[in-house]
Amino acid sequence: MHPLTFAQWKERAAQAKIRTRHYIDGEFRDAIGGGVFSVVNPADGSVLAKVGKGGADDIDVAVASARKTFKDGVWSRMDPRDRMDVLYRLAGLIERDAEEFALLDTLCMGKPISDMLAGDVPFSQLTFQFFAECIDKMTGHLTNTDANSLHYISREPLGVVGCIVPWNYPLMMAAWKVAPALAAGNSVVLKPAEQSPLSALLLAELFVEAGGPPGVFNVVNGLGEEAGKALALHRDVDKISFTGSVEVGKLMLIYAGQSNMKRVSTECGGKSPQIILADAVDLDVAAEYVVNGIFANQGEVCSAGSRILVQSSIHDDFLARVLDKASNAFAPGHPLDPATTMGPLVTREQRERVLGYVAHGREEGATLAYEGSLGSAVEGGFYVAPTLFTEVRPAMRIAREEIFGPVAAVMSFETPDEAIRIANDSIYGLAASVWTGSLSRAHRMARDIEAGMIWVNCYDHGDMTQPWGGYKQSGNGRDKCFEALLAHTQTKSVWVHLG
Ligand code: NAD
Repeated sequence: MHPLTFAQWKERAAQAKIRTRHYIDGEFRDAIGGGVFSVVNPADGSVLAKVGKGGADDIDVAVASARKTFKDGVWSRMDPRDRMDVLYRLAGLIERDAEEFALLDTLCMGKPISDMLAGDVPFSQLTFQFFAECIDKMTGHLTNTDANSLHYISREPLGVVGCIVPWNYPLMMAAWKVAPALAAGNSVVLKPAEQSPLSALLLAELFVEAGGPPGVFNVVNGLGEEAGKALALHRDVDKISFTGSVEVGKLMLIYAGQSNMKRVSTECGGKSPQIILADAVDLDVAAEYVVNGIFANQGEVCSAGSRILVQSSIHDDFLARVLDKASNAFAPGHPLDPATTMGPLVTREQRERVLGYVAHGREEGATLAYEGSLGSAVEGGFYVAPTLFTEVRPAMRIAREEIFGPVAAVMSFETPDEAIRIANDSIYGLAASVWTGSLSRAHRMARDIEAGMIWVNCYDHGDMTQPWGGYKQSGNGRDKCFEALLAHTQTKSVWVHLG
């Protein structure tokens, strides 16, 4: 547990430095139109800050600044080792300011402060370290051509990359998008989610403190359909790197078609199955992972294991273990309390949406087997208790749609083939887990499940080498991993006639 107490975090929160303006060309600037939007603290519903509301004019200025630095070559042509040094220093500054980052994200999206300190902040630091390490490992190559020719293929940055990110891991999603774009030598305009723009502004400021040239990494705040849309439609942006919902991910592809056919990578939602077979080696361990897989981060996780598929012969036994773990591990509480494992949902609307799904579940005839207590939840906050339905049928909405809250749907199956059929019966294909003691069954199921990430006898394990992304409508991109760096480059073929 972190040494600061709840009372000390509350004191820090009262004194927190909140940045509210865009960060363009190395300085904070007001929104050109002068408008603002409110960022609300979901722990109690209070207004945390009024943040400058960007629109097409602000995006134009930020893109121009990014383009200018790209053309100048201050970053794109900087010696690779020097570019590495800047990103390493940035990683060090994230570590130095870990508490400030943790506080900012906890204040605006309600994530438990302990999760920020143990997860989001160190993983964001690691993301910059990893992509810094990759910079001079990226190579072009020479092809085997005729004796009169020399043909080499090099990799060049794309130019200006627009990054659009969601609110569920504000700092980490920004890091996953911005770090590979910068490492490849691009300039960046980041549009954070309107619910959680605060840590992105600190990150961009620290990039300059780390020695990054002003104008290479810009942040424009604003609403999705205003600033986000203007960025995605911009004709001088070469790529949109997007994480968010399927609905908006599809808009990104449309915007690219309506403008300059920019590249688009999408990381979208999921309805990931956790499959527990009767031959699983340790049902207690499986139950613990299953509970974390759905209730961690309030269920606001793209890879949340929201469909729990249990082989019928162990269904009741396994369910009893899950309920036991769930009631001990997750109860909503104030996110600044270091003992809290579950904070509020991000907004009042998100809470209503999630409770709407709980109502659908009841109406459709699923059994509400568990509704946790609201624990020490705070008056005015957007809390939802951990909830679990059993006797869910694959056709029900709670089994098909991404809820993005702490609501689990338990289904039972007879055979591994049936489990695969249910698992694949989804528009999504982000992640899945299989719990079994049989090596061959594990590999067969991993092969047959249509998802970008399969966990065998674990959930949510991974490191920076893991390509993070999905099949089907979970998106077409891959975050983390070396390929994410390559996806921010384009190849150039140079054919030399030797005469
Ligand atoms: P969202 O799609 O509503 O918003 C994401 C971002 O897009 C925000 O910055 C928003 O302002 C912007 N946006 C919204 N409308 C826009 C428009 N018309 N034009 C341009 N930009 C627009 O998603 P959200 O509610 O912020 O995040 C939750 C979703 O993100 C879930 O579906 C979740 O699964 C997904 N997600 C996926 C991953 C992954 O790696 N696959 C990771 C985290 C979250």
